[in-house]
Amino acid sequence: MSEKLLEDLFIKRSQQKKKTSPLNYKERLFILTQEKISYYDYDIEKGKKKGLKGSVEIEKIKCVETVCPEENAPAERQFPFQIVYDDGPLYIFAKTDEIRREWIHKMKQVVRFNKDLLQKYHPCFWVDGVWLCCQQEVKQALGCRVLETKNGGFSTKGSRRKSRKPLPPTPEEEKSSRPLPPQPPPRQSGPAPGATVIAEYEYTPVTEQDLELRKGEEYTILEMVDTNWWRARDKFGNEGYIPSNYVIEAGNGLERFDWYCKNMNRSQAENLLKAENKDGGFLVRDSSKAGKYTVSLFTKSGGDTAGSCRHYNICTSPQGLFYLAEKHNFATIPELITYHQHNAAGMVCRLKYIVSNRARNAPSTAGLGYGVWEIDPRHLTFIKELGDGQFGVVKYGKWQGQHDVAIKMIKEGSMSEDDFIEEAKVMMKLRHENLVQLYGVCTKQRPIYIVTEFLSNGCLLTYLRESLNHPSPILLLEMCKDVSEGMAYLESQQYIHRDLAARNCLVDANGTVKVTDFGLSRYVLDDEYTSSVGSKFPVRWSPPEVLLYCKFSSKSDIWAFGVLMWEVYTLGRMPYERLNNTEIVEKVSGGLRLYRPQLANERIYSIMTACWHEKAEERPTFQDLVGIIQDLLYELQ
Ligand code: ADP
Ligand code: MG
Repeated sequence: MSEKLLEDLFIKRSQQKKKTSPLNYKERLFILTQEKISYYDYDIEKGKKKGLKGSVEIEKIKCVETVCPEENAPAERQFPFQIVYDDGPLYIFAKTDEIRREWIHKMKQVVRFNKDLLQKYHPCFWVDGVWLCCQQEVKQALGCRVLETKNGGFSTKGSRRKSRKPLPPTPEEEKSSRPLPPQPPPRQSGPAPGATVIAEYEYTPVTEQDLELRKGEEYTILEMVDTNWWRARDKFGNEGYIPSNYVIEAGNGLERFDWYCKNMNRSQAENLLKAENKDGGFLVRDSSKAGKYTVSLFTKSGGDTAGSCRHYNICTSPQGLFYLAEKHNFATIPELITYHQHNAAGMVCRLKYIVSNRARNAPSTAGLGYGVWEIDPRHLTFIKELGDGQFGVVKYGKWQGQHDVAIKMIKEGSMSEDDFIEEAKVMMKLRHENLVQLYGVCTKQRPIYIVTEFLSNGCLLTYLRESLNHPSPILLLEMCKDVSEGMAYLESQQYIHRDLAARNCLVDANGTVKVTDFGLSRYVLDDEYTSSVGSKFPVRWSPPEVLLYCKFSSKSDIWAFGVLMWEVYTLGRMPYERLNNTEIVEKVSGGLRLYRPQLANERIYSIMTACWHEKAEERPTFQDLVGIIQDLLYELQ
């Protein structure tokens, strides 16, 4: 089973396959994934999911829309919607309009590439052999109302659109510098207690409460009180805490194979295959089309000594069998891969070597062990200096002799330390693959240290200026996508960055970009930096409402993101190069905007300008941006 996108209790109407079959309404638990919408019997008293009652494959869906409620509908049937597929409409009743909107929105998003999307639909119910809207008496009768947009607003052209999911309101302005209270995490999908998970990485316990993980082995989840550390049991009955991002729900069954790289995109795959530089090196990744898979293969055949990458989609036959270049069909993907490990059969060469970054790069854990945030400085070794920042020197080192870390040594008098130490506990809980992970702090000595994940390619700004020659449009956009995803997570946690810019992003060994230094500016003790008229204030990344009234919000982060995109597409130029800070405040408040960089086409530039809307509330959300950028990337691939 793939990842749950949504889950809710709804009333479902019986489908009345025959004109005379009685109508009934039953409460069912609905679960939406990228592949299916399934409904289950549900034990309300025990709060437990029971047997599967039915499901519809996403591929078969032709339309998802609201339905007009029946006349005199009871309270629990006020918010119906329909999922139209081959068997006709499936009618579902949501508890509130908001939930209904959320589901329709999400479902439109997952079906948007389906082949047979309808252009017309029936806005009212089919009851006892008649459509209440148009009185037609054939269930298959063409719809009587034109849909506003065939793809339900999810154009594949990356146009701007309204927010995808209602987000909690953004605090417009923070009144004090006290840290925000920890926010409840957004509704989590993924495994629940009792679920079986598979370890993707080895994990060596660092505290007595931790449990060792062995790659490929199964574990049972016992408790998920902390989002980052779950209590689990291994097959021998040992129990303890494991980093939640080291395991994956026993889902599509591919997780246990080393060649499967679940969350890898095209250019990351190319980077990895090129770095390995082996003819026949391959991996299998999720395709940009939901629910599909792609084989990425590196080859030096035909005298191509530098080597190049080919990408083959795994196709499905009408019988549900899998095949690659030629029609050698297999019931499962592992069988298909085994076959092509021995036979090229239409591909440029056979699949010779598994290339996987699993063994090499275990992801960061939130903290080094469950509940650990104070780090013993005796466990740190310093290897080399990385740079000098606002708070002093940053060094690369090892924790316990083996884990790479970056250590910020906070120059005395540069930070309001007590406030920061309080806040660090909140920051530790923020975990996303596009955020630089805070591992912990050393506060028992002076200077205090901040210990974070280490990213070997350093600061994004330097990377843009020095390491990229002739970057492809996909590569630049993927960098922006990485940042937008990290920021969408911060936005969902109502956490404001306040200093988003290329200099505050870092690049890892695979070329993935991660956002760093979120919220830190609140603890800087330096008027030049904190006052909006100070020489170090990020004026070039600030919208008018920050420059004029110090009004920070997720929408001021959005403005900064637009400027960061501009930095990416100019390969690290200084925004408003010819203007000084005073001129910028005046001109930007008067409507001046950055020009279109040569490498950015009109559509990329329109994303930037949307972020620079004069009115904060008219700017997109990060969640919008993730979708828009994803659509654009899909078109480029
Ligand atoms: P500050 O935010 O305190 O001003 P920076 O975070 O900019 O300091 O750090 C200074 C330099 O150190 C950066 O430009 C970058 O090159 C390097 N650096 C900082 N953190 C890391 C890290 N986690 N991994 C790798 N390099 C880092
Ligand atoms: Mg910084």
